[in-house]
Amino acid sequence: MTDATGKQAQVGQASLEIAHLVKQYANADKPVLNDISFDVPHGKVFVIVGPSGSGKSTLLRTIAGLEPIQGGTISLNGEVIETGKPGTESAGRSKRSSELRTRVGMVFQSYDLFPNKTVLDNITLAPTLVQKRDKAEVEQEAIKLLERVGLADRKDSWPHELSGGQRQRVAICRALILHPEVLLFDEVTAALDPEMVREVLDVMLELADSGQTMLIVTHEMQFARAIADQVILLEDGGIVEQSDNAEQFFTNPTTERAKQFLRTFE
Ligand code: ADP
Ligand code: MG
Repeated sequence: MTDATGKQAQVGQASLEIAHLVKQYANADKPVLNDISFDVPHGKVFVIVGPSGSGKSTLLRTIAGLEPIQGGTISLNGEVIETGKPGTESAGRSKRSSELRTRVGMVFQSYDLFPNKTVLDNITLAPTLVQKRDKAEVEQEAIKLLERVGLADRKDSWPHELSGGQRQRVAICRALILHPEVLLFDEVTAALDPEMVREVLDVMLELADSGQTMLIVTHEMQFARAIADQVILLEDGGIVEQSDNAEQFFTNPTTERAKQFLRTFE
């Protein structure tokens, strides 16, 4: 098995491994994430649920290399990429992991497309400018990705001409063209009108079927149950319940806290 970067991936090895991760923001008196550990195996879908403020977005941002960590490690394919260093709470951008930023993709709640670029240019900008890939080859791949998410006819559109669901699907293409080893989704349907949620979730289901390793934060419990292989419930920066059997977590969770949390979605 060879992943998108051409590196050998060993069967059974974790694609992403988080060990004893600690994250504390500057001026905070305690960590927002405290001793978080979990593995995301190759080609699996790992779902994170939890109440607002529990640290879900912060966790994804540290994994995407957008925030320094103060303890623990983040590894990709068995290789430690990021080691927490105490005292980096207010580290500047240069301290953040450029390797994580290039190897891990992220799609955010707000579809932050460049407003003055067409759909095609939004997708091809990073691979041509940052990765210096051939423009013709990148455009061809971008068009294939747009076909895959049902937007082949919108390549020359401007972001303001698209619906929220369409913009979010373009944002997914923009992440995919960088061939991320792990793709992170932070409540990507939370800001969408209800009728547009399905079209985005369907794209994510198709990605999961294709074997993309994904880490998903969502409040859509039906969807979470349908897509998850493994799941954790996060609260107050700690893991309350962790399950390698997502179906069991959603139907018969072990902890009273998880039962209570899931009941709020009934
Ligand atoms: P969630 O995504 O689960 O709602 P967040 O990761 O956004 O949780 O936030 C977790 C905690 O960290 C919250 O108490 C929030 O106020 C705090 N927090 C988030 N971002 C920052 C920041 N940039 N600086 C300081 N505190 C933050
Ligand atoms: Mg959040």
